[in-house]
Amino acid sequence: MSAQSDFLIVGGGIVGLATAYQLVRRQPAARITLLEKEPQIALHQSGRNSGVIHAGVYYEPGSLKARLCRAGLKQTIEFCQAHSVPYQQCGKLIVATSGDETERLRALALRAAANGAPCQWLAAGELAEREPSIRGEAALLVPESGMVDYGAVCHALRVCLLKAGVELRLNTEVLALRESASEVVATTNAEARTARYAIVCAGVLGDRLARRAGLRFDFALIPFRGDYYRLPAARSGLVNHHIYPVPDPRLPFLGVHLTRLIDGGISVGPSAMLAFACERYGKLSFNARDSYEMIKFPGLWRLLARFPAAGVQELAAAISRRFYLRLVHKYCSGIELSDLLPHPSGVRAQAVGRDGGLLHDFILRRTARATYVLNAPSPAATSALPIAAEIVAQASGT
Ligand SMILES: Cc1cc2nc3c(=O)[nH]c(=O)nc-3n(C[C@H](O)[C@H](O)[C@H](O)COP(=O)(O)OP(=O)(O)OC[C@H]3O[C@@H](n4cnc5c(N)ncnc54)[C@H](O)[C@@H]3O)c2cc1C
Repeated sequence: MSAQSDFLIVGGGIVGLATAYQLVRRQPAARITLLEKEPQIALHQSGRNSGVIHAGVYYEPGSLKARLCRAGLKQTIEFCQAHSVPYQQCGKLIVATSGDETERLRALALRAAANGAPCQWLAAGELAEREPSIRGEAALLVPESGMVDYGAVCHALRVCLLKAGVELRLNTEVLALRESASEVVATTNAEARTARYAIVCAGVLGDRLARRAGLRFDFALIPFRGDYYRLPAARSGLVNHHIYPVPDPRLPFLGVHLTRLIDGGISVGPSAMLAFACERYGKLSFNARDSYEMIKFPGLWRLLARFPAAGVQELAAAISRRFYLRLVHKYCSGIELSDLLPHPSGVRAQAVGRDGGLLHDFILRRTARATYVLNAPSPAATSALPIAAEIVAQASGT
């Protein structure tokens, strides 16, 4: 006999928790079970990120990211207000340090306008007035960007779910999902679970569960490690906004930034180096299965061939703190090597195509009785509530 629910959610990161939350709102009478393999929720990407509430500047107009990030900014703030989760809209400055970057920043300003994200162009003098420690030729001020501890958002979601009677099972790993005409059955490391519909929000491991369930797609989730440092408390007044470089538009990562944290500190990072373990965070972490999955995927080798310079730069930043510091010195020369204190790292799940191309947008795939979240990189923490609403709209049609 297997335990029965209406909806089964796999994964207790922010996307899985938000999905359960939206399901409760839309279908309060439904029996909902969330299965998480770890002893706690939010131990992976959702608890190990920059903590930025993004405002929707960077994303291709019309994409899911562009639409759901704007909605997510608003809904995250409303959720924080309603559930007493500390947040602050400190604003962000994207800083151009050369003529070439200024041109790219202009293109970014147009994109922000197309996405409906308010921005203000700052000349070098105005930038220096706002941020005396930062130098650049120009900057784009994004006043709506904010900061929050997404781990705290996850815990507030968990409290709502428990109050609503959602069954939250920790230490329960889903090993496989099998659909029949009338139900979906999850084999786990404990008892089997049966539901009318399953929603898989398994972060960096989502593609493996989907393949095991028989889905076919021509990309894989590749883990990219993000190393951070933290500035000493004495330097926590260094900047008033988040400070970002102008990103390479071909890459999904935003470059090493100075991020104001809701606990009053400032983090520096993250880098974006290939990780040899999906869910381990030591500098030398290695997992044979994860590494094998990665190296057997031809898209990885094509990706490395497409972006050799970025690969070398990330490797250098991973090995050498001095090189890492050079990336920051482009826009903030006042930080010294001794200011780079240890800070927890994270591992991002990023979809890479078989042709080596990076898939930028969020990807949700539906079968008759399940939805799989197959690409939910940044800004998916910001966008989790509206991503969840999309998923629930799909699932409610069943
Ligand atoms: C370094 C870094 C910086 C980032 N910065 C930002 C930012 O500033 N702003 C922003 O909006 N976004 C940011 N992001 C992105 C954001 O953190 C992620 O997009 C988001 O957390 C993804 O949530 P998730 O629930 O999909 O994945 P996760 O948080 O990884 O959760 C997946 C969960 O599924 C569980 N799981 C996996 N397999 C199974 C299984 N078989 N059975 C049961 N459970 C399973 C895992 O244990 C995990 O708890 C950042 C990410 C990283 C890594």
